[in-house]
Amino acid sequence: MIKLIGVPFDANSSFLKGPALAPARIRMMEAEGSANCFAENGMEIKAGINYEDCGDIVFNTCQSADGFALIQQRVAAQLVGDTKIISLGGDHSVSYPLIDAFTKVHAGLHVLHLDAHADLYENFDDNPYSHASPFARILEQGMIASLTQVGIRTLNTHQRQQAKKYGVQMVEMNNFNYSFIEKLQSPLYISVDLDVLDPAFAPGVSHHEPGGISTRELLTIIQSIQATIVGADIVEYNPVRDINNMTAMVAYKVLKELVAKML
Ligand code: MN
Ligand code: MN
Repeated sequence: MIKLIGVPFDANSSFLKGPALAPARIRMMEAEGSANCFAENGMEIKAGINYEDCGDIVFNTCQSADGFALIQQRVAAQLVGDTKIISLGGDHSVSYPLIDAFTKVHAGLHVLHLDAHADLYENFDDNPYSHASPFARILEQGMIASLTQVGIRTLNTHQRQQAKKYGVQMVEMNNFNYSFIEKLQSPLYISVDLDVLDPAFAPGVSHHEPGGISTRELLTIIQSIQATIVGADIVEYNPVRDINNMTAMVAYKVLKELVAKML
């Protein structure tokens, strides 16, 4: 069973708000009628047929501690039996409570993190819960067995030191190739920050970082993974910055391909 959960929480965005609006806009792509529901492997991917849409988490707070506790609880409550969960939306800070919930069920969880940014800041803008810091929080607590970061093209000295300190496997964009895929281990969680894509393919993100991968390369990565994927998030989509829902459609396509891969 695959479940979909919307996480409309963007209190920890450092530059622009907007990812809280993502879940509704991405879901709209299934309903608006310009695309069909088929993944490229021939499976029809529809809510109620091969995944269950659990709706959005309702936040009555913009406090990180309360918001994160709610995310952790809601996801943990759905993660029963062999359930897999894909979450939509939010800024990248939400991956910390999401992955926290997964590690309670999946010991030795491995994480593939696709992003322009390493999100490894010890502290960013005096906010340790910043969307620039989730993987520092995850790694300092020893929550996961390994972290593989792909598409990175914004490393400063501090983040390079953090990556070394925590033994992060990193495929920087200036040396991008697919050889990391065969090394990925199970159980695998995938965190997709849509700014891993070049802004030409995904303008609807808060941080436009040139020199990223193409949509096709992202789909090839997902389709080539042999490890067992137990969960995924699609974060940092910002409808406020989007052009004619182009990036919403990219997110919807990524969602379909992830569901098809995880079934
Ligand atoms: Mn990120
Ligand atoms: Mn990013």
